Amino acid sequence: MTTENSDKKTFITINFEECKACGRCVEACPINGLKMSDQLNEHGYHYVEFVTKEDCIGCASCYYTCPEPFAIEVHVVGK
Ligand code: SF4
Ligand code: SF4
Repeated sequence: MTTENSDKKTFITINFEECKACGRCVEACPINGLKMSDQLNEHGYHYVEFVTKEDCIGCASCYYTCPEPFAIEVHVVGK
């Protein structure tokens, strides 16, 4: 399962099932736009999710700090 904010020129996609709940991206996000879900993914981790995905500025801090290569994707429309 994924979620995204595709109405903007930059947006991220969170691949819930790849998240291992380390919390690094939550700490790294400059707008406090991420949190750990109350729900578990299929591996038993409280995966990360958006607080307010509309506020994402596409800075990619979450992507660069995440140790899981497929958990977060940063998209730039037109590139
Ligand atoms: S791209 Fe930047 S603003 Fe958007 S969720 Fe990741 S760290 Fe937060
Ligand atoms: S940094 Fe990656 S593995 Fe850690 S909580 Fe965020 S998405 Fe999950």
